Amino acid sequence: MWRQTWAEIDLGRLRHNVAVVQAQVGKRVKILASVKANAYGHGVVEVSKALLSVGVHGLGVATIEEAVELRDAGIVAPILCYGALAPGVHEVVAERQIAVSVMNTEEIARLASAARVTGRGVDIHVKVDTGMGRLGVRGEMAFLQVMRAATSTDGVRLRGVYTHFSSADDPLDAQVDETRTQAQELSSLVARAREVGIDVPLVHAANSAAIFRDPQYHFDWVRPGIALYGYHPFSSGHQTVELLPVLSLYTRIVRVADMPPGATVSYGRTFVCEKPEQIATLPIGYADGLPRALSNAGRLDLGGHNVQIAGRVCMDQTMIVTTGLHAKLGDVVRIYGGQEHAHASLADAARQLGTIPYELLCAISSRVPRIYV
Ligand SMILES: *Cc1c(COP(=O)(O)O)cnc(C)c1O
Repeated sequence: MWRQTWAEIDLGRLRHNVAVVQAQVGKRVKILASVKANAYGHGVVEVSKALLSVGVHGLGVATIEEAVELRDAGIVAPILCYGALAPGVHEVVAERQIAVSVMNTEEIARLASAARVTGRGVDIHVKVDTGMGRLGVRGEMAFLQVMRAATSTDGVRLRGVYTHFSSADDPLDAQVDETRTQAQELSSLVARAREVGIDVPLVHAANSAAIFRDPQYHFDWVRPGIALYGYHPFSSGHQTVELLPVLSLYTRIVRVADMPPGATVSYGRTFVCEKPEQIATLPIGYADGLPRALSNAGRLDLGGHNVQIAGRVCMDQTMIVTTGLHAKLGDVVRIYGGQEHAHASLADAARQLGTIPYELLCAISSRVPRIYV
């Protein structure tokens, strides 16, 4: 590896976070770990193997390509695809034994014919839209119709019913608790199906925020994502659980320059030295996932010191001010992560940019090697 920029993925911390989630939900509830989007940027194959080795039940992905990647890597655990099915994927779904989310009877018919062609049945989870307004079947009549097809069509096996919460990360004292309303709708739909004689094997709903919000949202399975990677899902309060960030992003200084007053740095010359400054160059840019919006604003860590980004973040390089710090070529700079309370916190950068840790993690591109420790 020649690259001087890398992401360190601490699998011990990942396992710790699984234990925190499992303790929160109790032994009876199974974990379907959300590993979509390359495990939130952490590297899906290594992360999935580590998660399965500590007893998570299965893996949640967003696309069939993601599921196939896991099967190609030799993973035989249950995989549920959360996303809508693209035309033409049904036979692959059957062949590779990928459980899929279903929201209408046409999809069930297509899966049944793929099961006939391949000779392999397909596991399905009926997805219900209880207020997210994104995917799923809406309303009791349509739900019961899909459930009847799901339980009476050869080649498809109904495994579960689920929904997704829109607002589980809202403050706990919010006036209207949408999460409770959504969970109540899910429960009453499931009760209704059971009343009319449909067997519902299991129910799931909770993302990370709902897991820590209230045990009433746990049902039979939970689907954590961000909590496994070490970030608190709540926008405010309720941050008492000990989750540890799994990813740290590092780079090494490749140039150090002493600049006189008046010298300028980077595109547009938005950084002007007011006094003699030492400026160091880092081989990381927005093509690696360092947001350009951190230009002249981002705060990184050099040997325990807070250092500021000087000028615009470029595609492949970024400059920092190292005046007085005696920076040398090869010195390691931490962009995100590391120990708790570090200067370079991804959560702080997300807040500063008005976004969420999810987006900054997913932005770390394939050009950045992942090193597992
Ligand atoms: C991404 C996702 C999750 C996990 O959400 P987190 O907030 O990361 O815990 C759970 N369920 C579905 C359907 C998802 O798309």
